[in-house]
Amino acid sequence: MHIDLHNHTIFCHHATGCIDEYIQAAIAQGIDVYGFSCHSPMSFDKNFRMNLEEFSQYCQMLQTAKAHYADKIEILLGMEVDYILNHENLIEQAVLDYPFDYLIGSVHFLDDWGFDNPAFIKQYSQRNIEECWEQYLLSITKMAQSGLFQIVGHFDLLKIFGHKPKDIHQQSIKDALESIADNHLAIELNSAGWRKPIKESYPSKEILTQAFKLNIPITFGSDAHSVEQVGFKYQDLRHLALEVGYTQAVFFRQKQSVVIDI
Ligand SMILES: [Zn+2]
Ligand SMILES: [Zn+2]
Repeated sequence: MHIDLHNHTIFCHHATGCIDEYIQAAIAQGIDVYGFSCHSPMSFDKNFRMNLEEFSQYCQMLQTAKAHYADKIEILLGMEVDYILNHENLIEQAVLDYPFDYLIGSVHFLDDWGFDNPAFIKQYSQRNIEECWEQYLLSITKMAQSGLFQIVGHFDLLKIFGHKPKDIHQQSIKDALESIADNHLAIELNSAGWRKPIKESYPSKEILTQAFKLNIPITFGSDAHSVEQVGFKYQDLRHLALEVGYTQAVFFRQKQSVVIDI
């Protein structure tokens, strides 16, 4: 069964393509379960996300699409929500209250630094990258403990421009994975890293191997920001999962996990 739970649309103000175009691309690729996860509204970094007025429109349009395409593909309603350490209050209550199928929790910020945005890449040379990794991994740990999310987005995103975690971060990686396991979240295999300078999946094979040993469930996401990216490198992600030992994955309906064979 082919699933893809991480997809953006024009609602995010930095992705192209409308809901119908993404769904048609997903159907053409034989995707069985397809989820939308536009960036959630937030009073922060407002240029890269929908506003609250658009939020209700987003939900409504997805409900309509879900019914419209029900005989061809299962559409899931989700969001990608920023988790910023010590700023959980930025998460909009409306997002938490809406009956989404799932919420992806993602760390894109260390304090106010959007470290995955090429516009702010200069800050890497001004920061202590080892401290950044510790803060990043602590954010993931706390995010998993918050009880707000079903899926951890791109587990090792901080490597995006080539700064891979080192051996000294092993304990913090272990702590983050254990908190994900304890709180029953899934990790996504996200192919967007292959479109970035790091040129590898999120997470890496090493981290995925550790996740497998902890029985952490996986799901799949292309993190598409354009219609052409729907299903991006799905077979590579699937082979990676199989190599590590996974034979099953999960998706979520109304925040309850559904197990499938991959
Ligand atoms: Zn993201
Ligand atoms: Zn995303």
